[in-house]
Amino acid sequence: MALLFRRFDVMIVGTGISGIYAALNLDPSLSILMLSKKELTLCNSALAQGGVAAVMDKDDDSYELHIKDTLIAGHYENNLENVRILVEQGPTDVQKLQDVYGVEFDHKDDGSISLTREGGHSRRRIAHHKDSTGYEIETSLIEQVQKLKNVTVVNNSVLCRLERRDDLFFADILCGEEHEYYCANSVILATGGIGRVYDFTTNSAIATGDGIQFAYNLGAEIKNLSYVQFHPTAYADKENRECFLISEAVRGEGAYLLNCNKERFMHKYEPERKELAPRDVVSKCIIEEQKLTGSSEFWLDISHKDPEFVRSHFPMIYNKVLEKGYDMTKEPIPIYPCQHYLMGGINVDGKGATNIKGLYAAGECSHTGVHGKNRLASNSLLEALVFSRLIAEDINANGHAGGAEFVDYSMISPDGLPLPKGIKTEVRHIMQKAYFIHPDYAEAEKGLARITELKNMLEQGNFAINAAFVETKSLVTVAYIILTEVMERKDKEQ
Ligand SMILES: Cc1cc2nc3c(=O)[nH]c(=O)nc-3n(C[C@H](O)[C@H](O)[C@H](O)COP(=O)(O)OP(=O)(O)OC[C@H]3O[C@@H](n4cnc5c(N)ncnc54)[C@H](O)[C@@H]3O)c2cc1C
Repeated sequence: MALLFRRFDVMIVGTGISGIYAALNLDPSLSILMLSKKELTLCNSALAQGGVAAVMDKDDDSYELHIKDTLIAGHYENNLENVRILVEQGPTDVQKLQDVYGVEFDHKDDGSISLTREGGHSRRRIAHHKDSTGYEIETSLIEQVQKLKNVTVVNNSVLCRLERRDDLFFADILCGEEHEYYCANSVILATGGIGRVYDFTTNSAIATGDGIQFAYNLGAEIKNLSYVQFHPTAYADKENRECFLISEAVRGEGAYLLNCNKERFMHKYEPERKELAPRDVVSKCIIEEQKLTGSSEFWLDISHKDPEFVRSHFPMIYNKVLEKGYDMTKEPIPIYPCQHYLMGGINVDGKGATNIKGLYAAGECSHTGVHGKNRLASNSLLEALVFSRLIAEDINANGHAGGAEFVDYSMISPDGLPLPKGIKTEVRHIMQKAYFIHPDYAEAEKGLARITELKNMLEQGNFAINAAFVETKSLVTVAYIILTEVMERKDKEQ
């Protein structure tokens, strides 16, 4: 089907912190199209509670200490060059959020940014806005980007197809009920995480790995997709897929983890760091303790702290768990681990560029290698800021702009058969059984065989191209890459 595609210089897929910060740093002479699958604030960025890690107090902290903590948490599998970029350039971006874009971080009496501590950090270095830092940054940056005349922001617009010809990217975008067609000289994928490939996750509904699927199908390198982070302290609620997170900062401010007998147990596994061990370690300790007690009941207790301190530092968490019937100033809260974050993703270099010319990836869908095998708390917002700015700088310097306003290109019609029901649910059950904290190789092998069948069916069938199809194909592709890596790891171990 021959179609006319309207051209932009840059298309940014995603309006989370990484997408918006890239737009704010791009040259104002560039025409920019920004897409958001749902409303602008429905994204992982808006859910971030704890804050952004950065060396803001050089008297007490240093780049070397932040680098060391990042490497320890990442099991030394980090890309050291990019960790250095992250840590050394990050403080300027955090300061810029406040000074240029009006983000309000909590302050000390002397006016300096008040810093808290989280698991794995040897110093207080987390800039925060109470316990809703992501929402504060996201909404402040949205306000700024909406003022820019060169940026067209379209919400409820799902990227359904992305193809490349002659150094141009061609996109089929479903805006409400209508397909619209755009092309761009450069594309930044900032589509967020993959949490929805699991039964239980802290991630928002948009986190279906769409950008990773598009990049994979364009031939971009995908790296370490099986490096999935499971957060130890989500509110234990098996009724909802989206689990409410109890921020790491609660442990950072002294909360204890308790087993089903309401006894502390972390000292048995981590005598020094105890509750302040990195989150992958804490999640594994919970599973070990579960084997010992035979119970999956766990609690987080900060009731020994001053109630006013707890209420003023964690107002959102306090109110949320109160709604569920727990007053955290008086009693422990039920918690259990669940999927939280993706360390791997679309592989990029130190400027956020993929192996495909003109294609960039930023934020949670990208793999810069800064997190290694496990992300240090609050380093992901920092990564989203630093590397999306570097992408913008690379496009400002090297991206090509301009060209005819409309370009002819052919795409097959989006019409086709409806999808069979239940595929997403089936994928989620497979992943939850095959790879939750520790891989279950028997389940992974069985799961991979079924996922491969589903992948072939989606690739070969004539299905209608719409949001359900894109998300299902993305979940299947993500599950396929993760389980393939898991099985390759098993083969290496043997
Ligand atoms: C509960 C929670 C708490 C967290 N707390 C912290 C914290 O304290 N500190 C920290 O550093 N990190 C934290 N994180 C992680 C951090 O929030 C994320 O890694 C980061 O915000 C990701 O930003 P992003 O811009 O990459 O993606 P997101 O903010 O998730 O944005 C993704 C965007 O892509 C769009 N999109 C996706 N697919 C399509 C498509 N097909 N078409 C069009 N648009 C599409 C979505 O609509 C959305 O706008 C937390 C995460 C969660 C879930």
